[in-house]
Amino acid sequence: TPSRAGRSTEDLAAARARAFGGQELSYDRPLHLVSGKGVELRAADGRRYLDAYNNVPVLGHSHPAVVAAARAQLATLNTNSRYLQDAPVELAERLLGTVPERFDRVLLVNSGSEANDLAWRIARHATGSSGGIATEWAYHGVTEATYAFSPESWRDAGPPAHIRVVPPPPTDPAAVVDAARSLAGSGHGVAAMLVDGVFTSEGVLGPAHEWTRAAAAAVHDAGGLYVADEVQAGHGRTGLHLWSFAAGDVPADLVTLGKPMGNGYPVAAVIGPAALVDPFVRGTDYFSTFGGGTAACAVALAVLRTIDDENLVDRAAVVGSHLLGVLREVANDHPDLSAVRGWGLALAVDVVDPATGRPDADRAGRIVEGMRDRGVLIGRTGRDRATLKIRPPLVFDDDDVDQLATALAATCAELH
Ligand code: PMP
Repeated sequence: TPSRAGRSTEDLAAARARAFGGQELSYDRPLHLVSGKGVELRAADGRRYLDAYNNVPVLGHSHPAVVAAARAQLATLNTNSRYLQDAPVELAERLLGTVPERFDRVLLVNSGSEANDLAWRIARHATGSSGGIATEWAYHGVTEATYAFSPESWRDAGPPAHIRVVPPPPTDPAAVVDAARSLAGSGHGVAAMLVDGVFTSEGVLGPAHEWTRAAAAAVHDAGGLYVADEVQAGHGRTGLHLWSFAAGDVPADLVTLGKPMGNGYPVAAVIGPAALVDPFVRGTDYFSTFGGGTAACAVALAVLRTIDDENLVDRAAVVGSHLLGVLREVANDHPDLSAVRGWGLALAVDVVDPATGRPDADRAGRIVEGMRDRGVLIGRTGRDRATLKIRPPLVFDDDDVDQLATALAATCAELH
């Protein structure tokens, strides 16, 4: 099957390199995709791949409810939220029905980065402070403000002057108290701490609710806001609740959503209380052209409805627990797979050098490549780049679990 442009994979890869330079492309041999349906992606060479990596299509690729909502809305009306329209209001009402009662406002934007950037601006506006706290290997976005919260991106460059980092759980959350003290000492004070509810880039460490509650308390004591970044953890991924912070009664002040919110259509949001959001909106004349666009809202509504209709949060819990058990069995047979963690369909397997027990990035990379050769897509994460990241669409089923486990066992056996 040729791609839409009809180019060979080799020509397309060369053209991509000319246009995009060194921008990352997954896999040693590029994966040239032409279509996707459910948990399956199809490549230009006709091969099918089980998608156990992409957390954006929570409902599965090309879900008919999403396609129908986008098609109908694009064919009818798609304009900005300064006009009175049904979809943005319905979406906001529906979202507010899923979060604790203290939240009463929704700001609609286009990406997770934009949501976090906006949360940061609201926090700065509300607190008058200019300091931020992130976890050690966090990722929160591409804008200047969110890049500052993303040690995974700045790496050796070190933090900007207004940012402190703390080790992720399981560690002593007292580090947040120290970080806040340091920011007070430097004159920044604490405007906000941003926390990814599943600590994805740290190696998928799970909701860690006790830690996050303590971190939020420390931030509050310092006069700052706690931002629950649900871009990865939200929309049912953990199998606990639509939102991971809500499952653990974490006293978040602002909540940011993205990635799965449109199942691939760009749409994101900040949810907060009127007391924080209203002064910001008034004081800054807040408006976004595409944020809250009609089609984006229609799609986001279809996603929330489908998660309910297909009972995907519970399903993530059930299938995720099956997958966790099966991954543990595979790890028992392979000394290069050490810790296995999982919450719903956010799962991780640490890869080590069996001789030393140390994290082994090279081996993890070879496992990801070997899985691809066996038709299964997973990823790699963590500071050591030695943690396998398994984050399939929430419609993953038991057969998919078996296919993944068989591929992992075969890949590891081949590496020994
Ligand atoms: N927050 C988290 C936790 C993320 O994982 C990401 C994206 N990987 C973002 C924010 C940024 O979202 P986007 O790429 O949509 O800007």
